[in-house]
Amino acid sequence: MSAIAAQHLVKRFKEKVAVDDISFEVPEGHMLVLVGPSGCGKTTTLRMLAGLEPVSSGAIRFGERDMTEIRPRDRNLAMVFQDYAIFPHMTVYENIAYGLRSRHAPGALIKQRVPDAARLFHIDPFLKRKPRQLSGGERQRVALARALVRDATLYLYDEPLANLDAQLRLEAREDILLLHRQKGMPSIYVTHDQSEAMALGDTIAVMRDGQIQQMGSGQDLYERPINEFVAFFIGTPSINLFDVDLVADGEDIWARNAGMDLLLPAELREKVASYVGKQVRLGIRPEDYHVPKKAPFPVGEENTVQGYVNVIEPTSVGSTVYCTSLEEEAKDFTVTFKLRLPASYIGKEIPLAINTRKLHLFDKETGASLI
Ligand code: ATP
Repeated sequence: MSAIAAQHLVKRFKEKVAVDDISFEVPEGHMLVLVGPSGCGKTTTLRMLAGLEPVSSGAIRFGERDMTEIRPRDRNLAMVFQDYAIFPHMTVYENIAYGLRSRHAPGALIKQRVPDAARLFHIDPFLKRKPRQLSGGERQRVALARALVRDATLYLYDEPLANLDAQLRLEAREDILLLHRQKGMPSIYVTHDQSEAMALGDTIAVMRDGQIQQMGSGQDLYERPINEFVAFFIGTPSINLFDVDLVADGEDIWARNAGMDLLLPAELREKVASYVGKQVRLGIRPEDYHVPKKAPFPVGEENTVQGYVNVIEPTSVGSTVYCTSLEEEAKDFTVTFKLRLPASYIGKEIPLAINTRKLHLFDKETGASLI
């Protein structure tokens, strides 16, 4: 089996275009994550792949085979949805076994696979219970085990962890990854949670208004977003965005507003030349601000701003610091440090050196990246 492919998929509901010309390929062993805000067309895309929603146009291929018109049952899919439908009258064991029995798997295989799947999702102590004797999180893991117990051509997940609490969500994420690697088959995973997308996706497609804005590895999307929407959507805390004027002074180009005056690195000059004299959007990732003493680059006035510290939030790796610039009309911004900033800094103004090599610049009208 080679790749699963969606080719120019379109879905119209009357005049509403829910999915607007989407194409991608998912090679064997890969997990593609579709991520985007509510209503951007993720679920509809998945439902077309599953055959639950007829396509308006475009094609779906599994390897060489055109699957566009094939009925759901004959696509050999495993699916896990947010509103997990497990059978209330069956025990956990029977529920998981159903995934295999419905495909006429031999009894010996069922006896071996069901306890294995239950162990993987930490529900082995509950095999004799009925779903009503389980918590919501445990029920969701039964649904995962039932869907994933068998060998499918394609695994589809639609926000399967949305109903779990934060800790269980992290654990179940690991379990899904483990299982995905064991099976080595293509998977497509839908979520609106960018951190889940970053954790799971070999490839991530960021969707908006029925279209894929950008597709790539998590690192690609984070470091080289093609527009302001992707830059803002990927990364926590979100990228800081400011309106700035681009001003030329001799050869130099400066990005300037009430709170900052940054000298752009020479290698950006050519790319932004046509924007000199105009306003653009400037993006700075929270980790690209540094305490000057700890900055991994020479610090000068040309890359330093002042931040008035409002709130310091300790994190597992350091601190997230919420700052205001005291200049009038300047915007608040968020900074992350790999050090624990002591609480005594709250209410103080600190100099912050910005790694200008990591700046992002966007066209103010279209949002397109300039660099
Ligand atoms: P969410 O994260 O909220 O589930 P989503 O990205 O999965 O959102 P879809 O459920 O695919 O989005 O919906 C995409 C668009 O298509 C939405 O505007 C939705 O209202 C519309 N839509 C979905 N299903 C139908 C339907 N059966 N009839 C009419 N419009 C629909």
